[in-house]
Amino acid sequence: MAQTHEFKTEVRQLLNLMVHSLYSNKDIFLRELIANAADAIDKARFESVSHPELAREWQIRLEPDKEGKTLRISDNGIGMTEQEVIDNIGTIAQSGTRAFLKALEEKGTGASELPELIGQFGVGFYSAFMVADEVTVLTRKAGSDAPAVRWTSRGEGTFDLEPAEKESAGTEITLKLKPEAEFYLENWKLSEIVGRYSDFIAYPIVLPTRKVNEDKTETVEDRVLNSAKAIWLRKPSEVTEDEHKSFYAHLGHGGGEYLKAIHISAEGVSEFKALLYLPAAMPFNLFLPDFQKKGLQLYVRRVFITDDCKELLPDYLRFVRGVVDSSDLPLNVSREILQENPKLMRIQKALVSRVLSELKKMQENEPETYKRFYREFGKILKEGIHTDYANAEKIKALAMYETMNRAPGELISLQEYVNAMPGSQKEIYYLTGEKRELVAASPALEYYRDHGYDVLFMTDPIDEWVMQSMLQFDKKNFKQIAKGDFDPGEEEKSKLDAVIAEAQKKYAGLIEFLTGVFGDRVAQIRFSGRLTSSPCCLVVEGGALSPQMERLFKAMHQELPPSKRILELNPTHPLVAAMQALLGREPASPLLREYAEVLFDQALLAEGDALPDPGAFTRRLTDLLLKGLGAK
Ligand code: ADP
Repeated sequence: MAQTHEFKTEVRQLLNLMVHSLYSNKDIFLRELIANAADAIDKARFESVSHPELAREWQIRLEPDKEGKTLRISDNGIGMTEQEVIDNIGTIAQSGTRAFLKALEEKGTGASELPELIGQFGVGFYSAFMVADEVTVLTRKAGSDAPAVRWTSRGEGTFDLEPAEKESAGTEITLKLKPEAEFYLENWKLSEIVGRYSDFIAYPIVLPTRKVNEDKTETVEDRVLNSAKAIWLRKPSEVTEDEHKSFYAHLGHGGGEYLKAIHISAEGVSEFKALLYLPAAMPFNLFLPDFQKKGLQLYVRRVFITDDCKELLPDYLRFVRGVVDSSDLPLNVSREILQENPKLMRIQKALVSRVLSELKKMQENEPETYKRFYREFGKILKEGIHTDYANAEKIKALAMYETMNRAPGELISLQEYVNAMPGSQKEIYYLTGEKRELVAASPALEYYRDHGYDVLFMTDPIDEWVMQSMLQFDKKNFKQIAKGDFDPGEEEKSKLDAVIAEAQKKYAGLIEFLTGVFGDRVAQIRFSGRLTSSPCCLVVEGGALSPQMERLFKAMHQELPPSKRILELNPTHPLVAAMQALLGREPASPLLREYAEVLFDQALLAEGDALPDPGAFTRRLTDLLLKGLGAK
């Protein structure tokens, strides 16, 4: 009396993809099913710490049946109740399925990354349908009275569920192989796949193997296919690159490549071993809510405890993958005990310190590799400057930026910037903005460019926020150059002051006129030495939000009182003199107002702001162009 259920829409789409997939590397279905089996044993083993009656000789079995053309993968792990079967395989319980489909859609259906995506988005079970016409799951929950249940599906929109008999707890997955996938019944094939993908699985993966005895009789013996070595407990020098690769794939469920492996063996106050990896590229799923919960895998004396322990690493290192195996945490730790646990805090401190020092080493010894890393993860790492007070100085030293005087894409560290500062420069100059092209076009750079200074470009959305904590580096203050008073330093100042005082007098009429035109739109109109080639620009007061910060708040739909800008005029620009002259000759000329409006809009554009009325701007500009050509 099987009951038929419908798959949820997304699962149906997913299955459709799997069933009709043309991807050549279907081997990964086995990696995924073995990983699920190992997870299930991890859970049972964890339960058995407090319920010793659940302890077993943990094992994963692969049983090919050549006559029946089926392959069975079974485990004696935690198993599932009927409801869990419905929730876990059939409904869209995991946010992963939808995200997976979206990622595939974005990449186009021909995506060769499918095998990687499958693992990363937690939809591994369904990959069974790449090789099977029909999949049966027989499962019984450990430590529960719930009856066993059989789930069957051909991957075509529905699945059947019925009560079943099963002697012991755990899960048996039987695949009725498609004709073209029958080579997965061969022992050599199975052992090859396990060797490649699942060697480090902590439980024996067993394949019953026929053996011819001396007296010519045949017996079947269990052969263990994997070495089951906990790779993080071994000597770093003994772990090969291939082993790292496959272990990393296992950790990230097949997500990309790693850039660097970090072995840690701590003794003394805190005893643990860890094997951490810096990824080579941002995984597709780093911004999934589920993924963010996951962190390093925590083991206690080789028993898997959780991969949901946020306390092991601070958020700004959330891209680090790996395993921590502690010898001094209690085995029966619960999530609650883990929080605020001083032992765990000590582990965290040691991990952070080690990761930061490895990054520093890489920055010094392998600068190109480090830059590659930084381009991917710098915007996450930088958060630490704001959030990890104790390590802020170290993280500042790791930060890198583009600058005005360097080619787009080229990065330098703050130390390199400071080392190259001319003697007359006392502060570290920077400018924030949306992207390089916009920042590089800012008139606020003119003075610095002309005087041989360099300016850091900060174009990550996170930069503004980080800069709130970045007051100094190497005892030098930071100065946002489009903010506050323009201060060229002692020597230049007296010269400039004179120029400005003179302009203030000479152009008093113009200032008064402009004040009348702009009214409330600006807080102040003044002359400054900031500009050398543009006629004017907009700046914000020292304490005010920068324009970039304002745009960020707006993007987050935060209401803000509109902050007023200061309009700065260039005292040496011919346009200023010409406008003053026109004002003297023809104070009522309508041209004056048109010029003023165009100048103001130009200044807005130059700082990357949208124009309040782009239509009016283009009308005015066209008009002025026509007049310039004498056509109007
Ligand atoms: P993931 O393993 O990434 O969560 P899957 O699609 O592979 O995604 O599996 C979905 C869920 O089904 C698992 O999270 C687990 O709860 C359950 N499951 C799968 N295989 C087993 C198994 N062998 N034993 C117990 N539960 C399993």
